Amino acid sequence: MTIGWHFDNSYSKLSKTFKEEIKPTPVDDPKLVILNNKLAEDLSLDLSKIDKNDLAKIFSGNSLPKGSNTIAQAYAGHQFGHFTMLGDGRAILLGEHLVNKDKRFDIQFKGSGRTSFSRGGDGRAALGPMLREYIISEAIHSLNIPTTRSLAVVSTGEKVERENLLPGAILTRVASSHIRVGTFQYLAAKQNINDLNILIDYSIDRHYPEIKASRNKAIDILNLVMEKQCQLIVNWMRVGFIHGVMNTDNMAISGETIDYGPCAFMDQYDPKTVFSSIDRYGRYSYFNQPRIAKWNLARFAECLIPLIDEDEKQSLKIATEIIDNFQNIYEEKWLNMMRDKLGLFGNDMNDKVLIDDLLDWMEKNKADYTNTFCYLMNIKINNDEIYNNKDYISWSNRWQKRILINNNSKDKSLNLMKKSNPIVIPRNHKVEEALKAANVNNIEPMKKLLSILSKPYENQKNIEHFQSPSNDKEYQTFCGT
Ligand code: AMP
Ligand code: MG
Repeated sequence: MTIGWHFDNSYSKLSKTFKEEIKPTPVDDPKLVILNNKLAEDLSLDLSKIDKNDLAKIFSGNSLPKGSNTIAQAYAGHQFGHFTMLGDGRAILLGEHLVNKDKRFDIQFKGSGRTSFSRGGDGRAALGPMLREYIISEAIHSLNIPTTRSLAVVSTGEKVERENLLPGAILTRVASSHIRVGTFQYLAAKQNINDLNILIDYSIDRHYPEIKASRNKAIDILNLVMEKQCQLIVNWMRVGFIHGVMNTDNMAISGETIDYGPCAFMDQYDPKTVFSSIDRYGRYSYFNQPRIAKWNLARFAECLIPLIDEDEKQSLKIATEIIDNFQNIYEEKWLNMMRDKLGLFGNDMNDKVLIDDLLDWMEKNKADYTNTFCYLMNIKINNDEIYNNKDYISWSNRWQKRILINNNSKDKSLNLMKKSNPIVIPRNHKVEEALKAANVNNIEPMKKLLSILSKPYENQKNIEHFQSPSNDKEYQTFCGT
């Protein structure tokens, strides 16, 4: 079978510290649940002539592709603030697939059996959470936000034991790499300077070739990763995405969104929104995401201290200055993003107040975040009586005046807004509905949902249901491990 894999496995060539060589554990009865044909095409894979049974064998790891060299990657991480040595406990990297000889993608199985990093876990994953990752990661991609992708989900024919017995599954994840802040922390914890340098060079080669010739790679990579993370979080804030478990092992050096566990999108605007059942203190709430990103980047900076300067004091001073600049970079990006959402060109000194006033109004009036911006774009939404409110009208008058300064037109503003404001997001009730059906072998609702979410900025017909907020104010998500 030649489907077009071109493996070139640079990570598995790194020393023993970085990984364990291990094969996926074969599964009983693999069945293809869903395949991402469009992504397969983008990866130059031709799956059209392969029957479903063979696809299931391929995407379960029962039949490994030629050229793959399977490993589990070592990493550490601060989980809810506590440092732990982790590693791929239920994921196995097949290797790096090259597209057009130069674009490099990690191909990884999630749920593929135990590794030496599994600790107490079974190395397996349940169908629901894997399909959930598929839906949300593909939605995030269509929202033009950097993310790992989902190529396939296969059910294993085995049960996994969680609170109940659940059907097992394996997700094939595609990423520009799986190097995490936690990967650096792993080597730093082992006080392995040589390997740390190797990882920096490797990461730069893969993600930041522009600083290959830099005189201080540690400083430059810290700045670049910080910039990428600021941009990522700003994008999450733009669409109301709450990652839910921003541990340092779930922060990728590439700047992609990674590890979809208890994530969900906010309906009603409330900065304190938390969905994850285990996030009792709101550490990873909507509003806290930038603060936590900064905290994680400070952990990244700590790993680099021995490499920034020979003098530790000087190193600390430099790293601190860089991290202290997070706020400035983030705030500027955030302000510009919000200007785009409101269709504001140029800068006006009252912009921040105008934006904050709208957010405050939304919070006080329990307005839906996504739909409020739809309303501003004159897109029909249900329950729009809320915008008859006099505070809203007075805010709207200020907004309309602001749009017109510098000879701007409403049309130009609208065009800007259309690129920033999704009309449809993965509403929690729709995601749950799709997963419930998939659990009893009806994949059609999930396919329908995926199709609508693939065009979030288009005004599609008959999607009112997909635009309506969830009624369930107590909605909770679970890590699903
Ligand atoms: P996550 O919550 O998916 O970011 O995972 C955190 C850590 O727990 C990682 O080291 C995972 O590999 C590990 N882990 C999660 N679920 C399992 C499982 N079912 N079996 C073994 N290890 C797991
Ligand atoms: Mg993780």
